[in-house]
Amino acid sequence: MSQSFEALWHQTLDALLEAVWLIDEETLSIRFANRAAEKLTAYDRETMQGMPVQALAATPQDLCLWEDANQWRTGSQTLTQVLCRDGVLRPVEQRVERIAFPSGGAAGWLMLSMLDRSEQARNENELEALLSDLRATLDSTADGMLVCSQDGGIRAFNHRLATIWGLPRDMLVERNDASILDYMAGKVIDREGYALRLQELHRQPLLESTDVLALDGGQIIERRSVPQLKRGAPIGRIHTFRDITREVEVQAGLELAARVFDCSLDAIFIADAEHRLVRANPACRRLMGERNCAGRNVRDLFGSSTPPNWYAAAQQEWSTGGFWQGNLWLEQGAGQRCPVRLSWVALRDAHNVVFQTIGFMRDLTQQQQAQQRIEELAFSDALTGLPNRLSLAAHVGEAIERAADTHEVFAILFIDLDHFKIINDSLGHQFGDRVLKLVAERLQACLRSADMLSRLGGDEFVLYLQGCDEALAASVSQRILGEMLHPFLLDGLGFSVQCSIGVAQYPSHGHTLDELIMQADTAMYRVKERGRGHYSFYQPQMNSGLLSRMKLEHAMRQALEHNRMAVYFQPQVHIGSNRIMGAEALLRWTDPEFGVVSPAVFIPMAEESGYIVTLGAWVLEQSIREAVHWSDQGLPLKVSVNVSALEFRQTDFVERLQQLLLRHGLPSHLLELELTESILLQDAQEMAARVRAIADLGVGLVIDDFGTGYSSLGYLKKLPIAKIKIDQSFVRGLPHDQGDRAIVSAIISLGKALGTEVVAEGVETSEQRDCLRDLHCHFFQGFLCSPGLPAEAFGARMREQGVLGEDDWHAGAVPGQGLGLQSGSSGRQ
Ligand code: C2E
Ligand code: CA
Ligand code: CA
Repeated sequence: MSQSFEALWHQTLDALLEAVWLIDEETLSIRFANRAAEKLTAYDRETMQGMPVQALAATPQDLCLWEDANQWRTGSQTLTQVLCRDGVLRPVEQRVERIAFPSGGAAGWLMLSMLDRSEQARNENELEALLSDLRATLDSTADGMLVCSQDGGIRAFNHRLATIWGLPRDMLVERNDASILDYMAGKVIDREGYALRLQELHRQPLLESTDVLALDGGQIIERRSVPQLKRGAPIGRIHTFRDITREVEVQAGLELAARVFDCSLDAIFIADAEHRLVRANPACRRLMGERNCAGRNVRDLFGSSTPPNWYAAAQQEWSTGGFWQGNLWLEQGAGQRCPVRLSWVALRDAHNVVFQTIGFMRDLTQQQQAQQRIEELAFSDALTGLPNRLSLAAHVGEAIERAADTHEVFAILFIDLDHFKIINDSLGHQFGDRVLKLVAERLQACLRSADMLSRLGGDEFVLYLQGCDEALAASVSQRILGEMLHPFLLDGLGFSVQCSIGVAQYPSHGHTLDELIMQADTAMYRVKERGRGHYSFYQPQMNSGLLSRMKLEHAMRQALEHNRMAVYFQPQVHIGSNRIMGAEALLRWTDPEFGVVSPAVFIPMAEESGYIVTLGAWVLEQSIREAVHWSDQGLPLKVSVNVSALEFRQTDFVERLQQLLLRHGLPSHLLELELTESILLQDAQEMAARVRAIADLGVGLVIDDFGTGYSSLGYLKKLPIAKIKIDQSFVRGLPHDQGDRAIVSAIISLGKALGTEVVAEGVETSEQRDCLRDLHCHFFQGFLCSPGLPAEAFGARMREQGVLGEDDWHAGAVPGQGLGLQSGSSGRQ
């Protein structure tokens, strides 16, 4: 190598930025180091001249490198460190290359070059530190992070993400982007919405969004998604996820509390430490009369009628129990106030100092009213509002106590409505209740203020008449009976309700209210037995009446088998022809002890006990038998048999009737059944069906006591009725009583309209009969012709009259000439 060339070569090497050493391949000693090498190692060139290259080697790998010629011969490039003069190791990128001179011998030169990597290493270190900081930060945040590239692939995520989403471990290890993203999408309840949102974010890389996701485990996740920018351009997205389940719950709880506060029916207020109102819920404001109460002291809310010490008591209670409860009067403004129950709670801070109080108030007005009502109810009759027995007992008890000193007398009247059951049965209990109220009002109007009317129940009233002697009691009773004669009007329906009254006197008839009521009841019962609509004073022998009633019932049950009963027949006269065309079967009973007992007495008794079913069946069979008998003798009469409600309601009634007719061979048109209107009104549909079945058999149906019930004409019109009977009470006043005449006339026209025949009952005089004839009534029954007769006597009477012919059924026969007439007779059996 020429001198000048070598100098040029060295100059060139000095110009390089790389540190370069030329090394003798054989001795591995440094022959030349350039300026950059000086700078890198801090050795000067002269020092390095002749230095073994191993002096620069800092790592075992480098020492090995120089030991093994094969390695450096083939050339090598490594990242390593160089040992500098100051003992510092500097990171370098090192290359060894063999330089073979064309002129050179076997041994040659090696060129060792190093690029200082200190800066880069420092940068890398810093970057690494930064990264690790970042990672630590990411991992320590409470949010889950997911960094995605623009195409949606996952670039990074933190642990928290895995926890929030519950990503399985395997998936984390595997790091399969698609399966992680799928897993997340699969956990969202609204999968469709989730997918759409991701698509939108993908389409608009700069979009920022916050979404709330509900996961199927019940978690609520908030996802915030922002673009990741590099030099202002989006390169991906960062999604952060926050588990807000608890916040949502807390928020919901707060909202709930606020709603409870707003919607509570209880009035709630919050007051500060000085007990000044700070907040009141709507219920509280309503209760306080919508005044602006903010700032008012709690103590001033409650009026003067409240116990004065309550405020102090409340604070005393707080020190022990934390809350106080009591009833107060809340002032509502404008002189109004209402009773409230206040629960007042103190809230304390960490130093046990009351900083707020909460009051809960409940309006007690209704409760108090209810309480009052309960008390009223305990002492009054719910239907009429009259005092009940309890209240009467208290009142009469006081009177009895007073009487010990004053010797005052008083009377107890037991008032029972007559035939009230008919009203109840035919018009319904509601109507009956309203009637009872009207009756109560009317009775009340007959009294002085010192008297007391009470209702025992049903249609029974008890009246206490203060300072009342016998004469006064009689006059009050008469007044009541007189008042009750005036008809009542309800729903456009006029009707009358009568009553029976029993009177007991204090002290002659009893010394306690119970005794007096019992005696008055007995007296009342006697009135009922004797035909109702009257009053009677208690008489000691009356009590034996009850005993005799039991005996009577017993006797009745034995009467049939001892042949003490018989069926009598009362003729039914055709007014036009004046001939007997039929008969009503009437039951008669003669008892060895009681004598002749009226059906008006024993029939109701039999109805009450159910024995009427037996009696009725017997009467029906007897009547059919007699009818067949007369028919066989050429006297074909219609026999009319009374049927009680209980009998008619027997489910096999129609069937038994049919069998009886068959067994005795009676043509069904010779039999009629008498029913009262009230029988047909209960279970109207079923009864109507039964009536039709009977009509289908050919048996005639008769409405008895027509005009005393309440049946609707519309209803009657639909039933196959053969006859209606005008009650005796309307016939009695004929011909002079205009009212009776009008009623009878109306019933007859009505019968015509309904297409039925009309029978007048209880005709006793020829004037009555003539009047009925003028009014075009078809038949009559009554003592004018004959009372009920034993079958024998009736048959004889019929034979006298002769065989009935077709003509008899046509009007025009001269009145008064028929054999059926016993002129002027009104004899009773
Ligand atoms: P009712 O069906 O209205 O019978 C008519 C009643 O009026 C009979 O009373 C009869 O004797 C009576 N009477 C007939 N003509 C006159 C008259 O001109 N003047 C007066 N003042 N009364 C007259 P009786 O026989 O005392 O029967 C009373 C009630 O007992 C009957 O009223 C009927 O409801 C019932 N009754 C009688 N027999 C039976 C029966 O076999 N079965 C059923 N279920 N009830 C019967
Ligand atoms: Ca009858
Ligand atoms: Ca009758």
